[in-house]
Amino acid sequence: MEFLTLDPATFTYGAAQEIAPLVRRVIAENPSKFTYHGTGTYIVGGRDVVVIDPGPQLDSHRDALHAALVGCTVRAILVTHCHADHSPLAAWLTAETGAPTVGFGPHLDDRWDIGDDPIELEPEPASEVEEGAEVKIEESIDREFVPAVVVRTGDVAAAADDWTMRALHTPGHTSNHTCYSLDDGVTRTLFTGDHVMGWSTTVVSPPDGDMAAYFESLRVVAGRHDDVLIPTHGPPIAEPTTFVDGLIGHRLDRERQVLEAVRDGCTTVGSIVLRLYTDVDQRLHKPAGRSVLAHLAKLVDDGRVVVVDGGPPRLDRTYAPT
Ligand SMILES: [Zn+2]
Repeated sequence: MEFLTLDPATFTYGAAQEIAPLVRRVIAENPSKFTYHGTGTYIVGGRDVVVIDPGPQLDSHRDALHAALVGCTVRAILVTHCHADHSPLAAWLTAETGAPTVGFGPHLDDRWDIGDDPIELEPEPASEVEEGAEVKIEESIDREFVPAVVVRTGDVAAAADDWTMRALHTPGHTSNHTCYSLDDGVTRTLFTGDHVMGWSTTVVSPPDGDMAAYFESLRVVAGRHDDVLIPTHGPPIAEPTTFVDGLIGHRLDRERQVLEAVRDGCTTVGSIVLRLYTDVDQRLHKPAGRSVLAHLAKLVDDGRVVVVDGGPPRLDRTYAPT
């Protein structure tokens, strides 16, 4: 499928830019392989506003939000999930404005022990030295975040005279991931956080990431027929149903490839990664292993694969087709 790009020439870090009626975006200067050009914090409304995902603990971003919010009354601070590039500045913004934080809940304890990363997925030392920094395996979690107001699907997260914002629980990337839909009577916009990203696939990394839940949450979004999706990282998505159907197809292809690999005798996470990710930088093989584990866990749930050694799916187990 075709992903979208955001041309760096079209935005300035720290500047509030109107990207739709009622919607301004401030991009934090935290580019990385998880965040693309950086975290997009959204300010929604006129004088009364909500802020969606205040972003990472960066002084430059805090100052940019402070400047962008002069003259506004912040009614609520909505958080899609508590990864370190989304929620940490919520504490500062609450202190600054008195506005409550809103979200599904804090990060849940890890649901099961996923074991150790396979040794064969360790990058060779030389490749790390060449490129400098080591690639992180997963996004770090903001375990401090606890929303003041807990929302579930359909709950009004914030409202003004001319618009309403409702929560939509979309587990998969994380178990507490929540999208927010803006209805101003003209346009239906869904702020998708990391659930649907325009520029890339979403990381689904067990034990908090859940591939079966992710598929289900994608189908929910595809069935809503919003006018536009606005992700945290990357540009707005103007054809939501087509795009999300593409994402589902892409994931189903990967699931089929994982199942075929197991049927062909690749019985470990490591051997599946080395078969499917031959064209991927080996420094990304460990994160790929987490993604393969997410697919295997779903295939086990679906009854198409079994864990030969018994117990729950883990990175260091052996798998077989049923
Ligand atoms: Zn995230």
